Amino acid sequence: MENRNLTVEKISLVPMNGVGTDFCERLAPCLEERFFHKFAVEKPLTLSLTQANATRGQFFLNTVFNRMLAAFPRQDGLLLGVMAGDLYKAAHNYIFGDASESDRVAVVSTFRLRPEHNNEPPDDGSLFNRTLKECVHALGHAFGLKHCYNTRCAMYFSHSVHDTDGKLTYFCDSCDKRVRAANR
Ligand SMILES: [Zn+2]
Ligand SMILES: [Zn+2]
Repeated sequence: MENRNLTVEKISLVPMNGVGTDFCERLAPCLEERFFHKFAVEKPLTLSLTQANATRGQFFLNTVFNRMLAAFPRQDGLLLGVMAGDLYKAAHNYIFGDASESDRVAVVSTFRLRPEHNNEPPDDGSLFNRTLKECVHALGHAFGLKHCYNTRCAMYFSHSVHDTDGKLTYFCDSCDKRVRAANR
């Protein structure tokens, strides 16, 4: 009712490479609350390991974007992939996620967000919260937001999961204003 100024555009949530549909179905309402968009969970998409960099065992960001755009070619919304495989991009050994504003596509990797990755006991609540924060971050980029210096803001750049743990699952007031303006 309050949201008539925001364009109603669908965001498709794509479970990828080991991330379950149920996990994405839990993320969807949390993301809807933050972006005022309808989120639809799509059929899972699996990238074969031959599409990963053989020596690094990681997926290259642009390859992932291209596969997602090929699998979901329509232009009426925005794509957000959540994948279990490890991700990297040029000049970065790894990334938690990223987006292309012009191609309207974003992806988050849970690989390094799992507590087990840092030799901590498995913790589904922690994995979920970290993934939610990095999804909010990646979608922020998809809507044109840059990194924020506020360490509590979801748009703060995480150098490690400790930074992710220190962030909130929301934008700070100034990033929130920007994302709302971008959604008009
Ligand atoms: Zn970022
Ligand atoms: Zn901010």
